[in-house]
Amino acid sequence: MKQQKIAILGAGPSGLAQLRAFEAARQAGVKNLPEIVCFEKQNDIGGMWNYTWRTGLDKNGEPVHGSMYRYLWSNGPKECLEFADYSFDEHFGQAIPSYPPRAVLKDYIMGRIDKAAISKYIRFECPVRWVTYDESSKLFTVTVMNHRTGKQETDEFDYVVVATGHFSTPNMPYFEGLEQFPGRVLHAHDFRDALEFANQDVLLVGASYSAEDIGSQCFKYGAKSVTISYRTNPIGFDWPKGMSERPLLLRLEGNVGHFSDGSSKQFDSVVMCTGYLFHFPFLPDELRLQTHNCLYPDNLYKGVFFQSNPKLIYLGMQDQYYTFNMFDAQAWYARDVILGQIALPAAAQRQQDMQSWLARHEQLTGCNDAIDFQASYIRDLLEATDYPDFAVEAQAELFKQWLRDKEADIMAFRENVYASTVTGTLATQLPASWLDIKDDSLESFMSLDFIEANELDKVD
Ligand SMILES: Cc1cc2nc3c(=O)[nH]c(=O)nc-3n(C[C@H](O)[C@H](O)[C@H](O)COP(=O)(O)OP(=O)(O)OC[C@H]3O[C@@H](n4cnc5c(N)ncnc54)[C@H](O)[C@@H]3O)c2cc1C
Repeated sequence: MKQQKIAILGAGPSGLAQLRAFEAARQAGVKNLPEIVCFEKQNDIGGMWNYTWRTGLDKNGEPVHGSMYRYLWSNGPKECLEFADYSFDEHFGQAIPSYPPRAVLKDYIMGRIDKAAISKYIRFECPVRWVTYDESSKLFTVTVMNHRTGKQETDEFDYVVVATGHFSTPNMPYFEGLEQFPGRVLHAHDFRDALEFANQDVLLVGASYSAEDIGSQCFKYGAKSVTISYRTNPIGFDWPKGMSERPLLLRLEGNVGHFSDGSSKQFDSVVMCTGYLFHFPFLPDELRLQTHNCLYPDNLYKGVFFQSNPKLIYLGMQDQYYTFNMFDAQAWYARDVILGQIALPAAAQRQQDMQSWLARHEQLTGCNDAIDFQASYIRDLLEATDYPDFAVEAQAELFKQWLRDKEADIMAFRENVYASTVTGTLATQLPASWLDIKDDSLESFMSLDFIEANELDKVD
């Protein structure tokens, strides 16, 4: 049988999950594995977790992928993203707190990657330029710009896995008066260092995770005031003095923002926390997923197989409560379909399956419901593959606890601890309040005197 060939686009957590899924099969002695080529725009693995100080364009003139910033700490409990086959205990050799900073989480994600084993599949600094599918040959043609050789390269593949992420292309609204605003106006994608906004009155437009977290960062690092402007509903936390919410921004006059409740306030900077666009400039219309950020994008059977051409696979395109372990579940499922171990049903059955998920998706009535929905989606994938079973539903309960903890104290929720659903280990406590721990480097964090939390009530 002819060896199949697969292109993986992107070496972030989703693309790496796909590489690892095949590596696990190789180690298990599966024969006739496909040839794999992973094309990555950046010069390293890690995707969004590969922090960059750059904004705008990278050294090759490509749009910067990274939207993460300094001082970013995990926004959900680490116990909810723990890999079933690689625990935090195994990586760090000790218990650590439930909400580590970015660098610590990245260290963990990378820890389970056998770099030597997978790097040989990855072509770095190779942004994908264009993908087509030929109905007669049943092959995809992928064209990339290889910045290391300065040449464009083209190759043919049986399958294409799109793992290019969807938190990189800013959705940038317009408000009257922005042209004349005398301070800095930026999108969350370009936010890097909260210290830049110390002593400033900062306006954040948007009412989702970015506004919540960038607002908290600015407060933590000394902003004079933080105002969050919402379009429909306020985020609604009990914000500390100096942070507040106002309804929709109507216009700016000079440095004064006018809001729909008739109020106004002067600002030094405006940060648009207005979300991201799904952007696949390398895909023609007939192959391009068209969706917004939601838990069940339409036209993806099992959340991954493109309905009109299931040899095109999308990973990590859902809105995310679960992240790394969900990407794993998707990648293992996709691998087994490619290897012929799972047979894809006919188009009509796939459509029916998607419809039933979409119908359930439409009925969701709040965050707890949404968490359960994503948990059952993952459970559905897990049941079909040999990915190590993990406590998806118990993790859903942790997510719900996380929501309650944020509600109780948005500035201190990262001081809570949870038990690992993989090892049972209870996280240690931070030795000081999150607001007071300003150095988020791996070295500094790991040298903190974490407090054993055995006496604390176990949350499970
Ligand atoms: C500000 C912020 C904070 C977050 N915080 C958390 C958190 O605390 N916990 C958590 O679990 N998740 C968090 N996330 C979610 C995060 O997106 C996921 O954890 C994860 O990075 C998604 O993995 P991915 O591989 O799907 O996408 P990405 O990590 O975005 O990786 C996509 C990869 O594709 C590459 N790529 C893009 N276009 C091309 C192209 N044309 N050709 C070749 N390569 C290309 C990129 O360079 C990148 O390496 C956060 C996201 C953001 C934006």
